Amino acid sequence: MNDSPVNLPKYSIGVGDRFAHQAKAQLKACIFAAQAGVEVVPVWNKSNREHLIIGSEPALTRAAADAAVKELGWTKAYFCDADHINLKTVDRFLAPCDFFTIDVADFIGEKADDAAISGFIERHQHLVGPVQLQGSAEPLRITAELVRSVAEKFLAAVLHAGEVYRKLEAEKGRGNFVAEVSMDETDSAQTPLELLVILAAIAEEKIPVQTIAPKFSGRFNKGVDYVGDVAQFSREIELDMAAIAYAIEHFHLPTNLKLSVHSGSDKFSIYPAIYAAMQKFNAGVHLKTAGTTWLEELIGLAESDGDALALAKEIYAEAFAHQAELCAPYATVIDIDLAKLPSPEEVKGWSSAQFTSALRHDVNDAAYNSSLRQLLHVGFKVAAKMGPRYLDLLESNEAVIARNVTTNLYERHIVPVFLGGVR
Ligand SMILES: [Zn+2]
Repeated sequence: MNDSPVNLPKYSIGVGDRFAHQAKAQLKACIFAAQAGVEVVPVWNKSNREHLIIGSEPALTRAAADAAVKELGWTKAYFCDADHINLKTVDRFLAPCDFFTIDVADFIGEKADDAAISGFIERHQHLVGPVQLQGSAEPLRITAELVRSVAEKFLAAVLHAGEVYRKLEAEKGRGNFVAEVSMDETDSAQTPLELLVILAAIAEEKIPVQTIAPKFSGRFNKGVDYVGDVAQFSREIELDMAAIAYAIEHFHLPTNLKLSVHSGSDKFSIYPAIYAAMQKFNAGVHLKTAGTTWLEELIGLAESDGDALALAKEIYAEAFAHQAELCAPYATVIDIDLAKLPSPEEVKGWSSAQFTSALRHDVNDAAYNSSLRQLLHVGFKVAAKMGPRYLDLLESNEAVIARNVTTNLYERHIVPVFLGGVR
């Protein structure tokens, strides 16, 4: 498969900018990476769910990204990602986006029709047998049962991805956008061999996929660290990278195909494993970080004290009062311990430093409170409802907020994942 003219570079970072005010501060983190000698390109991602909750339009994300790029003189690639779209939701993303995360998780487990399944199995008998993946001492074995079970579990999802892809190609023109297939928002992790057979199906659907987002084992809660076995994750991501290298070679997928890690942000304990795996396989990664930039806005407001701190406290009180409603859309990706949430009355008495150390994701700070952080992470609807009251304070405290946004993205994410911890 020929590589498209619009190619996602080896290292890319997905950044969320819920209120479209931090694109410049986010881009600055990529500029720091470039100054440190590594090209990491930004991809501004925002899902339909976020747009619906905030009441925003994808075109606004594009405008903010373009303006930041222009103002800071960024000459490398950058993208706007229609995050987790499907046939029903893609339309308003078509014009402003050039990266499409085709979400097929809802179709996983749904069965394609019998003829499609048996046809796939017949055409892929050649996969059955030993497969030698880079970095694995022993050859692994693709069994006939594995091919069948992937066909039964994932073929409907891949066929759906093909349908979405063909719509995109018809609208945008072949090669004018990056296509990702995401399977992360589902219950069980895919094994590296399942991934390999899934990639065979994607190749057969003629989707020039540049990034694929499997579900890894362990929990990827929003805005907090990984919960799971880091050594197992490390083996899994290495085999996934090896499976991708194999698929590029044998299934004629784009040569820049790479893993997309939908991290939900802040997976600090697996960042060294991701870096090590990339070095080992000379592979790239797309690291999607989700909307923690919004939390840096809150931290910046709290740091600014006065009215801004008061507003941050008010947002907490509202989020506390509406926790059930705010958490519902994110139920599978948050773990809030209600007993650990401070009462709004208590928070009202907090100093600027008390608020920021409870919220900032610094595990060395005893005051860090992951339950409070997760509640505020899903609480952006409260700020969206405040409208100009919130946005005006973002603008009047821009400098301190921007410093927090840039430092967080660069030091806590880009440095460990793309620079191996060396600034
Ligand atoms: Zn995702």
